[in-house]
Amino acid sequence: MQDSVKMTVQVSRSNKLIYLVDDDLMQIKMLASQISYFGYTIQSFVTIQEMKDALLQALPAAILMDIAFPESEMAGVDVITGLYRSIPLHPPVFFISGNHEMSARIQAVRAGGDAYFVKPINISSVIDALDRMVLGEDREPYRVLIVDDSILQAKASGAILRKAGMEVTIVTDPFQVETALEESNAELILLDMYMPDCTGMELAKVIRQTDLYLSIPIVFLSSESDRDKQLEAVGLGGDDFLVKPIEPRHLVSATSSRIERYRQLRSMMYRDSLTGLLNHATLKDRLEKEINRASRQSTNNDIAFAMIDLDRFKSINDHYGHPAGDRVLKSLSQMLSRRLRTSDIVGRYGGEEFGVVFPDTTAVSASLLMDELRENFSKICHRSGDAEFSVTFSCGVASYPQDKTLEALCNNADQALYAAKRKGRNRVEVF
Ligand code: GH3
Ligand code: MG
Ligand code: MG
Repeated sequence: MQDSVKMTVQVSRSNKLIYLVDDDLMQIKMLASQISYFGYTIQSFVTIQEMKDALLQALPAAILMDIAFPESEMAGVDVITGLYRSIPLHPPVFFISGNHEMSARIQAVRAGGDAYFVKPINISSVIDALDRMVLGEDREPYRVLIVDDSILQAKASGAILRKAGMEVTIVTDPFQVETALEESNAELILLDMYMPDCTGMELAKVIRQTDLYLSIPIVFLSSESDRDKQLEAVGLGGDDFLVKPIEPRHLVSATSSRIERYRQLRSMMYRDSLTGLLNHATLKDRLEKEINRASRQSTNNDIAFAMIDLDRFKSINDHYGHPAGDRVLKSLSQMLSRRLRTSDIVGRYGGEEFGVVFPDTTAVSASLLMDELRENFSKICHRSGDAEFSVTFSCGVASYPQDKTLEALCNNADQALYAAKRKGRNRVEVF
């Protein structure tokens, strides 16, 4: 019982508030319910004035704005233009319109529109835009490890990076680097060239000899002005050489651009390109790590593992085309990543199969949650051209400690999934 209470509180990652303004009541009802399935909170308005009044009370994370209102054909654009002149910190705005003409789109861009959707609206692209704009600000901070024998120097650079929102770990003893790397999960090492026990170049070479840190960016920060020495350092495994004293904004841009690239590279290795979810190998890796962690604890060591498979997906592709099928896969991945807790691990297991690892969760709680998502997913209205259709999924759940190994968990979740298929699909079964 207690478990299920905990679950409802944590069910979604963030309940961001979205304002939806449209004089078409049917349209507004449809959009509001569809968007809310993905974990956003929607407040709807049928008149511009109501929305203006509400803005004085609370600023939403984004505004979805119709363009044509009884006042005029371009009333939606005009009101945003006016609003954005008067409020300095404004939320992103997405226009929705029946008008696909270039002149309307240009006016929308001029008004400060961040996206433009032509009706009938494809829900998955709206969620995509919302996730990009609204969740963009929730990105994890960059993590930097500074290695410098002078604590003063290290603190000076650290303060600059922290001010830019980064997480900074400082090490003054080069022999502590390995532990610090492991504990901080750093994404870039800022390395001093000259230290008493070893040089930065030697240290860079040692770090590069560990497979795990083969590609982590290493940036030297030193007062060394000899160009040959700098080149040598970069040749030995450094990625860049910054000369002290350095302008704060240069330090910030040099580190953030390298971390951003590093994240992209890692994401290509660990994530599926269509959905952005963890790929098969990484999901299994994470499940194994959770099993190992749980086996070290004597209490609170439940893990649930859910396998999801779309129902009759081959016929969806056959009827509506492969690109429409791809969008369905994307909308399921959006729903899973927005509606589950940040601690839950979501991956694309294979073609139209997904897997979710729920740490600290019993099979019963996980199946209740999956059943709620199953029901919501079945209500999403997908589109291909003029056709509208819905898709369902089946789900099988297995759990640790009933199943002790990775193989047992995967096999039994799979068996439960096939039981769900046999019993008629669009249902959740526990092994
Ligand atoms: P069931 O309810 O028994 O699961 O039936 P099904 O049709 O979903 O199962 P089946 O395994 O026969 O077909 C899976 C289909 O999923 C076939 C394949 O074309 C489709 N599929 C797999 N990966 C992708 C993908 O990346 N994009 C698209 N559009 N379709 C995919
Ligand atoms: Mg299937
Ligand atoms: Mg399948």
